[in-house]
Amino acid sequence: MSAVLVLNADLGPLHRVSLRHAIRMLLRQVAVIHEADADGLIGVYPIPRVVRLVTYVVTRWRHSRGPAWSRAGVLVRDGRRCAYCGGAGTTVDHILPRCRGGENSWLNTVSACGRCNQRKGDRTPVEAGMKLLVKPVAPTWAIYI
Ligand SMILES: [Zn+2]
Repeated sequence: MSAVLVLNADLGPLHRVSLRHAIRMLLRQVAVIHEADADGLIGVYPIPRVVRLVTYVVTRWRHSRGPAWSRAGVLVRDGRRCAYCGGAGTTVDHILPRCRGGENSWLNTVSACGRCNQRKGDRTPVEAGMKLLVKPVAPTWAIYI
């Protein structure tokens, strides 16, 4: 059951957790109740609907699961800049091309302008003689805040 919305310390929404998980966060004092159900109590706590992290998410959740890969997410992560020329990144390039087994994953994709993407084609950056200006990373939820 995913019932409780978790907010970052700056009120940016992160994800939903089960009620049980939310209570555990309250007990561990990593979160406080932001909005509660007026109708009941669990022990000494009102039933939380929304909880807010005490500490900002970037450090706290770095090692836990981040957002799932998406084309839109890659563009957001890379600030819509081309990873090869620094121009406007409007497409998603697979560093190891899909046709050669490259995955849809955060570490295998970067945003690229149409020109660089086309120039690189079905080659790796090394084969194409193109240099990556950025090193792709798996983002935390913070990129969406
Ligand atoms: Zn480019």
